[in-house]
Amino acid sequence: MSTCSYKIKGFIETSFIDWPGRLTAVLFLPGCNFRCPYCHNADLALGGHRLPTWPISSILERLKQLQGWVDGVCITGGEPTLHSCLPEIFALLKNQGLKTKLDTNGSNPEMLEGLIDGGLVDYVAMDVKAPLNRFAYAQCTGVVPPLDNIRESVHILMKKDIHHQFRTTILPKLHSIEDILRLAEQLRGAMGYKLQNFNPGNTLDPAFENEPPYDHTTFCELQRRSQDIISLSGRAIGRSAGADLPLASRGLEARLQA
Ligand code: SF4
Repeated sequence: MSTCSYKIKGFIETSFIDWPGRLTAVLFLPGCNFRCPYCHNADLALGGHRLPTWPISSILERLKQLQGWVDGVCITGGEPTLHSCLPEIFALLKNQGLKTKLDTNGSNPEMLEGLIDGGLVDYVAMDVKAPLNRFAYAQCTGVVPPLDNIRESVHILMKKDIHHQFRTTILPKLHSIEDILRLAEQLRGAMGYKLQNFNPGNTLDPAFENEPPYDHTTFCELQRRSQDIISLSGRAIGRSAGADLPLASRGLEARLQA
C-alpha cells in the first residue's frame, strides 16, 4: 500500500502543445522553490492551497478511457521534483502504457537522474531561466539560486540518452540580447532549445504585469540566432534520443561555468 499523498492540483485531459507530435494529458503538482517575478502560475507555485485536489484514481481511470487517443502525460507545476511521490506517479502512468514527460526548473538533479535511470520518463523539458551565473539567475528566479544543481541537471540531460528540450522565457527587463546569446552558447549541443516571449498580465510579482515583451521582429531574430548557436553542435535539434553525444558536449563543463 502506498504511503504517498498525491497532491495533484490540476488535470487537463488533452493538450496538443505540451509535447509536439503527441496528444497529452497534463497533471499539475503544487509548490515551487523559485519565485520568478514573471511566473503566470502564481497560485500553483505558492502551494495551490485554494485549488481542488484531484484523486489519482479518478485520473488513472479517465486516462484508461482515453486510451488510444491520449498517448502521453506531462507532469508540470510548480516544480514537480519537489514531490517525493513523483517517481510513483510516473510509475502508475507507465503501468498504463503511457509515455511520460517532465517539466522542471532543474533544481533537483538527484530526482531527475533517478527518473531517467529508472526509465520512468521519456522526455524532459527544463526551464533555464538565465545565463548560468549567480546574479542573472537570482534576478530571474527571485531566490538564491541553486546554480550547481542547475548546472548538474543541464549536464545530466545532455550526457544521458534522454529526449530533452531547454526553454527560456525572455523579457527585456531581465534578459539583455547578450544574456540570451550567452545562454544559448552555454547550452550548445542540446537536443532542443526554445525561447518563449514573455506574455504580460497575471504575474507572480504584480510589478511585472505590464512589462513589455520583446517586439516580434527582435524575438524572431533572437530565436534564429539562438538556434544557430545551439545547432553548432554536430547533433541536430529535435533529433530523437539515442543519438551520439554531440562534439560540443566535450567543452560542456567549461561552458556551464562560464
Ligand atoms: S515560472 Fe518560476 S516560480 Fe513559476 S512555476 Fe516555474 S520555476 Fe516556479
